[in-house]
Amino acid sequence: MKIFTDHPLAAHSSWRVGGVADSFLMPESLEDLQKGLVWAQEQGVPVTFISGGTNILISDRGVRGLVISLRKMTGIEEEERGGRLLLNVWAGTSKSELLKSFLKRRVAPALFLAGLPGDVGGGVVMNAGVSESIVPREFCEIVDWIEVISFGHSGEPYQLGKGILISSHVDVQNAVRLNRDQLQWSYRRCGGWRPGVIVRVGCSWPLEADASILEKVKVANQRRLSLQPLEFPNCGSVFKNPSDRQRAGMLIDQCGLKGLRWGDAQISEKHANFIVNLGQAKAMDIYGLMEHARKRVKEKFGLELESEIVRVGDWDEIHEAR
Ligand SMILES: Cc1cc2nc3c(=O)[nH]c(=O)nc-3n(C[C@H](O)[C@H](O)[C@H](O)COP(=O)(O)OP(=O)(O)OC[C@H]3O[C@@H](n4cnc5c(N)ncnc54)[C@H](O)[C@@H]3O)c2cc1C
Repeated sequence: MKIFTDHPLAAHSSWRVGGVADSFLMPESLEDLQKGLVWAQEQGVPVTFISGGTNILISDRGVRGLVISLRKMTGIEEEERGGRLLLNVWAGTSKSELLKSFLKRRVAPALFLAGLPGDVGGGVVMNAGVSESIVPREFCEIVDWIEVISFGHSGEPYQLGKGILISSHVDVQNAVRLNRDQLQWSYRRCGGWRPGVIVRVGCSWPLEADASILEKVKVANQRRLSLQPLEFPNCGSVFKNPSDRQRAGMLIDQCGLKGLRWGDAQISEKHANFIVNLGQAKAMDIYGLMEHARKRVKEKFGLELESEIVRVGDWDEIHEAR
């Protein structure tokens, strides 16, 4: 297990922005994870978890304490039982790998997973999904249980994206299994399991084959390619849709903000709810554009846009300055 110091984080974010982590670990096993968590507790430094980095905005000032990326804790065990496909998935497994397990059996979850970036643990945390009326369309519908390494937390009340100061003994052998109905699922969020880290996820779906699923997945991928600015680093939709009819992208577009630039960050000309990095963007440029869009939508429509992405790291001074 190697803990790196002053580790650059931009490569761990699909926006390709952000400063350095004081310390950084990418565990490959539960034992590595255990050592990292115990190390952070002994050092008295906060721990921040990331995975695919496709829904986080990492501060230019970096992240204090230890950042743990789950990306290398991967693997899927598959079983067919009682007419269902049961998948036991390590949290760092990419969603595209999960898709393959469903696609092999031609079953429905492959469709909403098409083109969804990031990892399975991050998919649970964000209750990732699509807005189209398909079944299933979000993680909450395919997850049976999650396994969490829980620990006590001291210091400030827990906030999404903020580091956690571990205050209790950590034992990765004692992961807690929480069933789907013990969790609090909502639009692009899942609560009821913190503070802790999700290590494994149990997913399942009835083995009812849809002969046309492969074709549907191809169409969904093409649709993303045509509608989303995938040629530039981005983090997907930056705001949640206020409702199915009031879509954040449409509201931002109607404020005339498509193409607006702050530094090298730009509100995409293709999709107004995407902010793209044209090359050398800073996290502050992206954040500035988000705040500007939020303000303009509030002025024009009286609606408060809520961030979908999670701000990670050292943003305290910005809060104080505003
Ligand atoms: C091009 C593009 C398109 C996208 N399209 C969609 C879409 O259609 N629908 C959608 O819902 N999202 C979409 N997203 C957003 C993103 O892909 C999802 O939210 C994804 O589920 C995030 O997973 P991740 O592994 O990248 O998580 P990260 O971005 O690494 O982390 C997200 C949050 O989860 C926490 N976290 C991650 N893993 C763990 C873990 N194992 N234990 C504890 N906490 C953890 C992190 O601390 C952070 O708070 C898109 C993003 C991009 C770049």
